[in-house]
Amino acid sequence: MNEPVVIIGGGFAGVYVARELLRRREPVTLVSETNYFTFTPLLHEVATGSLLSHDIVFEYESFFHDPRFRFIRGQAIQVDREKRLVHVDGQEEPYATLVIATGATTNFYSIKGAESAFVLKNVEDAIALKHALISEVQEEDRTVAVNVIGGGPTGIELVFEIAQLYQALLLKQPETRVTLRVIHAGKGLCSNDERRVQSYIGNAMTASGIEVVCEAHAERISQTEVGTNKGTFPSDVTILCAGVRPNTDWARGSLALDEHSHVPVNHFLQTVQDEHVFALGDVAAVDGVPLPKLAQTAVREARLVAHNIVEHQRHRAMKGYTPHVMGTLFSLGFGDGVGKIGPVVVKGRVAWFLWRTVYLFKTPGLWNKLRVAFTWTLGLFQGRNLTEL
Ligand SMILES: Cc1cc2nc3c(=O)[nH]c(=O)nc-3n(C[C@H](O)[C@H](O)[C@H](O)COP(=O)(O)OP(=O)(O)OC[C@H]3O[C@@H](n4cnc5c(N)ncnc54)[C@H](O)[C@@H]3O)c2cc1C
Repeated sequence: MNEPVVIIGGGFAGVYVARELLRRREPVTLVSETNYFTFTPLLHEVATGSLLSHDIVFEYESFFHDPRFRFIRGQAIQVDREKRLVHVDGQEEPYATLVIATGATTNFYSIKGAESAFVLKNVEDAIALKHALISEVQEEDRTVAVNVIGGGPTGIELVFEIAQLYQALLLKQPETRVTLRVIHAGKGLCSNDERRVQSYIGNAMTASGIEVVCEAHAERISQTEVGTNKGTFPSDVTILCAGVRPNTDWARGSLALDEHSHVPVNHFLQTVQDEHVFALGDVAAVDGVPLPKLAQTAVREARLVAHNIVEHQRHRAMKGYTPHVMGTLFSLGFGDGVGKIGPVVVKGRVAWFLWRTVYLFKTPGLWNKLRVAFTWTLGLFQGRNLTEL
């Protein structure tokens, strides 16, 4: 196979497709808006000072040392499927096979004023959030109310880290009163997870003094409060972690999208519209069912897509994809965690260590792994970074 495979999007899906193709000695062109990969599962640690922004972003060239790898920094704006060209900013890039891996973006639903809430999708968001959380404590009025909208994995992991961030900050300002609240639309937190996991999280919330309001739909957000069907809550910092939507607006007009803006693919993760275009990760849906929006599944899909691209180009049989989630692990702040791996529920410090180990191994590149391990080890002795940056 000599023609290039062009991958749009350098997140988990795109990077792992590139890695697998390079392992098979295939040339790859990666197009991404930034020159770095963001390790999203650790964003909440950057927002709360357990890690610094540079610990979770990795320049593509730091782990792709292959002459077959080419990187284009830019935003894909259109695909010409007839001519097999991708328009990247002002440039046209020819492809033999195209991979769409542009991930997902925050879903603001129809919540009034939602744009004034903080979100957590990239490292800039994490830095802005950390700044707001810390600077609130410096305010005159000595009260801080933080509302996290969304009691799924991101909201849960974030709120525990915020609780510990404030514990550290309040050592210097014990007179400040902090209210932490999770506003969740579902009946229970992390509703896709096993009951034992849910109840462990619930108990940990109570122990950390985090309020939970379930079956509450955020309707409006302002600089000072969050309005819901269950009442209005004062809020100095509101964080929207309630859901995402596929990042496919740029492809409208070039590719058919389903009603929720996913790229429809078949079981080979090939778009139903064009056999030379594959899609995976947070953007794709098989038979109308979105693929799980998880890093772990994006990585598994990537291996399959790389295999299928090679087989398709060689006119050989491709493999089908079966969604499978190996397990879930949550960190509940420093030293505590919970999760389920296969049938086994793990809790407490063991779960937390397991969580850190899993994410350390998923960090791309040896030097990058060592960097994260070093910062975490330093953090064991030094505590959080409490600068507003
Ligand atoms: C805060 C947070 C915590 C998470 N925690 C976990 C977790 O603990 N475990 C887990 O399994 N999953 C977790 N996830 C989900 C996981 O990050 C996603 O499912 C995964 O990143 C999906 O991979 P992707 O490649 O499809 O998208 P992304 O990783 O989002 O990558 C998309 C890439 O495409 C680029 N891009 C977008 N549009 C364009 C364009 N037009 N042109 C060029 N480039 C473009 C983006 O800049 C980005 O680099 C978390 C997500 C977030 C936001």
